Amino acid sequence: MVRFRLLAAGTVFLLTAALTFAAPPATAVSSGATTSTIITKTNPTDRTYPGGRGENDLVLYTPDSGSTSTGTNPYGAESVVRAGVVVSIDGNDSPIPADGFVVSGHGEGAEWVLDCMPVGAEVSVKGKRVLARITPQSLVYQAEQLLAKSPKPEGDAATSAALARELVSKASAALAAGTKEADARPMLDEAVVLARAVSYAAVASPTTEGRALWLRLDRDNPKSAHQAVESARALNANMLFPETIYWSRTINPPVEADSMPQHKGHRGTDPLRTMIDEGHAHGIEIHAWCEIFFIGPPKIQDGEPSLLTMHPEWLALDRLGRRNANTEENFFYVCPARPEVHEFLLRQLEGLAKAYELDGVQLDYIRYPGAVTPDDGFCYCDYCRKTFKAEAGADPRKLDPKRDKELWARWNTWREDRVTSFVQAAHSRLHAARPGIVVSAAVVPDPEESVTGKHQNWLRWSQKGWLDLVCTMAYRPDAKGVENVTREALEIIGQKPPIMVGLGPFLGFSADRLIEQIEASRAAGTVGQALFSENALTPEQRNALSTGPWKNKAKTGL
Ligand SMILES: [Zn+2]
Repeated sequence: MVRFRLLAAGTVFLLTAALTFAAPPATAVSSGATTSTIITKTNPTDRTYPGGRGENDLVLYTPDSGSTSTGTNPYGAESVVRAGVVVSIDGNDSPIPADGFVVSGHGEGAEWVLDCMPVGAEVSVKGKRVLARITPQSLVYQAEQLLAKSPKPEGDAATSAALARELVSKASAALAAGTKEADARPMLDEAVVLARAVSYAAVASPTTEGRALWLRLDRDNPKSAHQAVESARALNANMLFPETIYWSRTINPPVEADSMPQHKGHRGTDPLRTMIDEGHAHGIEIHAWCEIFFIGPPKIQDGEPSLLTMHPEWLALDRLGRRNANTEENFFYVCPARPEVHEFLLRQLEGLAKAYELDGVQLDYIRYPGAVTPDDGFCYCDYCRKTFKAEAGADPRKLDPKRDKELWARWNTWREDRVTSFVQAAHSRLHAARPGIVVSAAVVPDPEESVTGKHQNWLRWSQKGWLDLVCTMAYRPDAKGVENVTREALEIIGQKPPIMVGLGPFLGFSADRLIEQIEASRAAGTVGQALFSENALTPEQRNALSTGPWKNKAKTGL
């Protein structure tokens, strides 16, 4: 006990000195308590869902399953346990080890895996219950794994690495000599913090790369535009994607007589102008993130003007005549096919590009609402039904997707073409309004899924030269999946146009995982990363970015 106290006191000076280069947040991962939860399924045989993992499930896969891997899809998180210790965390289809098992979660289950089963955690299964505990050995394991990422640290990092190793060995010796776990933990926590800082310092930080932050300004805070630029500066980000058109309202004051109304909270200010002025002064590009066919959630019925009240006749209708998207939180969309909708929206984009020195305009929700069944699909407004019928001889609402296969395929292509014609026009009119502007789109990363699910053919837009940049929304908890989906997309489109990978720290994964995803997206050959979103970044993630992959300033290179 005395020995431990002396050791701990002796480390304080060195620790402070070593930390000056990294300043990691004070929150170290340490909890001696055992957490447990209920397993919803073990080795499921009903595989209606990939791997048999359904909504909010926590599934146990053991070697008894007879499968070599879990077979799950990317929309979850899973910990691989060998000899009672978590050896890795991944998103999907993990190998099932012969000397262990995999715990795989979706939704609430995934949250539990990410929160309670980090690498190094001791895990056991008792009946229907899985128990996890961060032990001193877990912390030793974590420190060693982090140090292994940086075999040859230099300068301050070398000092920190040596100190982390010293703390690990001293804590281990203290434990062997009978020191209580709780008394040895502070040393190990310090070792992990140091080892983490060493691992971040070892991550490359190229000086040419796009680093973007999507963000929504706080409408009740007049300083939010200034703060957004300051946040980008602190992180060495070089692009901001401020949500400029959303809920069929803008953050900026109207630029023309028929412009969309300004969001109430921003009235009397021009946050877009502030971001452009301040951002450009610091080498930060501003790309106006604009939501196109999605015009708002149900709460836009707040007495303020929106397209819902200004042009109710433009609203998209599903096959059952409903205005709210059944698969998307009852969102409202405008009809993605009507010429007057296109003209109105194109004028909004043009107006922005003429009035503001924007570096880019990003098209988001440049698609139909997602549909699981044909009845959930859009749009069956009078215009769409009449126009398609005049061309194809059939009312699309009366088509049976199974019986009328050819006409149904034609109906799908017809819808896809409406979105495509919008993108083509947007590209040409935006370039006419502001030569050199970068027109990008935020898209479903898998080019096939984007067409079948959303009538969003970004592959075609890319091949035709109607996009200058693609931002794939690769929001998932793992790094391997980000790399795979990005490699596939790049293989198909080449580097024309370049791809920036959209990563989803809002999903709540760890700072370490965010760094791994950035490294994965670089390895795949992208020109940068866009993070969704600035608002969602935790202090740990911010620290990891500014001491790791974004520690050097970079030019966008676009
Ligand atoms: Zn329509």
